[in-house]
Amino acid sequence: MRHNFIAGRWVAGDDALANINPSDTGDVIDRYAVASREMVAEAAQAARATFPAWAHTTPLQRADALDAVGGELLARREELGTLLSREEGKIRTDGIAEVVRAAQVFKFFAGEALRIPGEKVASVRPGVEVDIMREPVGVIGIITPWNFPMAIPAWKIAPALAYGNCVLFKPAELVPGSAWALADIIARAGVPSGVFNLVMGPGSVIGDTLVDGVDAITLTGSVPTGTRVAQRAVGRMIKCQLEMGGKNPLIVLDDADLDIAVEAAVNGAFFQTGQRCTASSRLVVTEGIHDRFVAAVTERLERLVVGHALSPETHIGPVVDERQLEQDLSHIATAEGEGAQRHWGGLVLERDTPGFYLSPCLLTETTNAMRINREEVFGPVASVVRVKDYDEALAVANDTPFGLSSGICTTSLKHATHFRAHSAAGLVMVNLPTAGLDFHVPFGGRKGSSYGPREQGRYAVEFYTSVKTAYVRAM
Ligand code: NAD
Repeated sequence: MRHNFIAGRWVAGDDALANINPSDTGDVIDRYAVASREMVAEAAQAARATFPAWAHTTPLQRADALDAVGGELLARREELGTLLSREEGKIRTDGIAEVVRAAQVFKFFAGEALRIPGEKVASVRPGVEVDIMREPVGVIGIITPWNFPMAIPAWKIAPALAYGNCVLFKPAELVPGSAWALADIIARAGVPSGVFNLVMGPGSVIGDTLVDGVDAITLTGSVPTGTRVAQRAVGRMIKCQLEMGGKNPLIVLDDADLDIAVEAAVNGAFFQTGQRCTASSRLVVTEGIHDRFVAAVTERLERLVVGHALSPETHIGPVVDERQLEQDLSHIATAEGEGAQRHWGGLVLERDTPGFYLSPCLLTETTNAMRINREEVFGPVASVVRVKDYDEALAVANDTPFGLSSGICTTSLKHATHFRAHSAAGLVMVNLPTAGLDFHVPFGGRKGSSYGPREQGRYAVEFYTSVKTAYVRAM
């Protein structure tokens, strides 16, 4: 049994949840404590009590702690990557890569702790100096989803601590293993008691108490959860940052390099079981290349192995749980009901171990008005929308309530440049999958995908600090 971490102590919960391997439902990884609302409130109080001291530690102390976390993650990447794959279902190489990414994020923000920006501006009044400073916000509530169990917590916790904030971290209840391992590393990295707290359990039960106990809340999750959290945060007038869903278009033009386009589509739509907010779920393809593109993607899908996440032969692991599998199947059925063709896959598969295996599904003959192209599936399902030309492709790409990532495959500088300027998304890719990002640059979307300041890179300073303008008159 793994416990919550509150005020520097490992604390049992009121209850516990089993962490089940989606590649093999008979494999229970461990049991993880569920925090009560009282425990969450206690963690918030502990963080609040510690905040003034932590906020005034030297940047070097915080940098050293973050660097130590990054170092241990790197050293244990194989073990922790395996744990991650076991609980989430992405293949082991992706699990290890995610742990490395988390380490890189901690090391990046170790550096940022030593580079907290400020400004000196000449006053309009004689003899007065103006300093613009950045200070920590206070206690940050961090709520994360299940699809990146290590990287998303890292890119929220690392900047929070780097800039001198305290943390209340609540991971998704489906993947407490990576979160617990990360908390254990942070607990031993020289962070004082109360600065970092782990509270596990369902957000529907403890989420409100968490939002009520913090000075700022950052959440990555679905739109309904984000909306609820934002309303509560605004009610308390606290800072709020949300990263939510996507329905990301990848445009393929007649002049595209077919191999690059197919690789971008297959990687972006289906790798990591399509369970990425940046997944290329709408493939918007012009008429001249449509049939060749669909044939080449299908040929590639035929060769992909769906199986146990820890098997070296596997390209695509299982769906994360039964509920998500049912949701994926229901989206496919609705699409077929609306006239889409199930061109490939979309079948539940049996493997040696009982798990949630689904063959990658390519839907063709879809229109952008169909539900499959309006709502996020969050599974290995992509639909092809046939369009006449670039102008129609751009219009279809931007016709969505979301605006996280977008991409175009083309050899035309003119169209690539125009798309970069006119895509209504926060991330734009040219001849690359819509998913797969660098760790040191800003990340986030527009419209229904994101709310509040950007995450990651130097831009993280906006959310995790508060600006103070100081006026000084020399005597
Ligand atoms: P979810 O919204 O169900 O849960 C996300 C987190 O919110 C979990 O920790 C959950 O316990 C918590 N939560 C649930 N109800 C809550 C409440 N009432 N108050 C506070 N917290 C609550 O999402 P999920 O199923 O874990 O993740 C999938 C979603 O996350 C998808 O929509 C996906 O697009 C999105 N996502 C977005 C990004 C991004 O950066 N834009 C990245 C990854 C995932």
